[in-house]
Amino acid sequence: MTPAISPSSANRTRIDAASGAGISPCWTCSTCDQECPVNRSTSRLRPQKIVRMATLGLMDEMLSLPDIWYCLTCRRCTNVCPNQVKPESLIGHLRREAVRRGLVSIETYRRYQRFFLRFQRIRLQLATDLLRSDTTTFESNNWQRWLTEPPPANGDREVVFIGRSATSGNWRADIDPFQIAACFSCSECSNACPISGDRKVFDPQWIFRMANLGQMEPLLTSAAIWLCIKCGRCSDACGQLVQGRQVIEFLQQKAVTEGHVPADFPFRWSHAQSWIYSEFVREIDSLLSSAH
Ligand code: SF4
Ligand code: SF4
Ligand code: SF4
Repeated sequence: MTPAISPSSANRTRIDAASGAGISPCWTCSTCDQECPVNRSTSRLRPQKIVRMATLGLMDEMLSLPDIWYCLTCRRCTNVCPNQVKPESLIGHLRREAVRRGLVSIETYRRYQRFFLRFQRIRLQLATDLLRSDTTTFESNNWQRWLTEPPPANGDREVVFIGRSATSGNWRADIDPFQIAACFSCSECSNACPISGDRKVFDPQWIFRMANLGQMEPLLTSAAIWLCIKCGRCSDACGQLVQGRQVIEFLQQKAVTEGHVPADFPFRWSHAQSWIYSEFVREIDSLLSSAH
């Protein structure tokens, strides 16, 4: 009887060296699975499964997985791994290999990149709709509309004039512990952020600059602050030790406690994530299958 898989220790060594993912200590605890935002919403992206396949040297099988294209490159899996395994590095390596070997064409890869940018704008449209209504149900025709409609010209950003007064109480004392005063707007946070490819949609540096200027009301009423996927890559990238993730979490909490968004909004937004990531995964499946 032919075995279902053919483990290869030579492949395993090659994959580990080329990806720098340090797969050997993985003890398949699935902590990474529980942390992955796509997996939590869809059960379709298990970093632990991919690491396990790598330890078995199953290169061809991994390259054919659509799962590797569902990844947001947020590194949350890497950050929580108790054994310092880097599933995100492994997935990045697999994507590069899939393109290098021609399994995914350059044109398909470009379409994927365009879709990923568009996806963040769709998330912004969803968050905006949720803030304007009390709906908790979603329609797939919304997805199609958001996917195909021309994007709005100015996203969610507001022109702000220096000198406008701070609009919210003791914001400086609240926000100072996150080192935000040290920000000199270098944009390293935005360069590192996995979802800020379109800065008109989401731009951590702009959020931190606005917070530093005390422009709290535009931030607290903004749909954009809810797009953050809490990965902490902005904080890791900041040479000034600004804790960007905590700043945005603080803004979200303040938006609720000060009544800028309905009290049940975090729950509805969390529910909406499940829907939108399911559509995200379905769209990638469709994109990959139409390429063959
Ligand atoms: S968290 Fe680390 S050790 Fe646990 S399954 Fe994931 S990669 Fe393996
Ligand atoms: S990088 Fe983020 S999206 Fe990708 S597998 Fe890890 S946790 Fe999931
Ligand atoms: S935590 Fe920082 S890097 Fe991650 S999504 Fe939020 S703003 Fe971007």
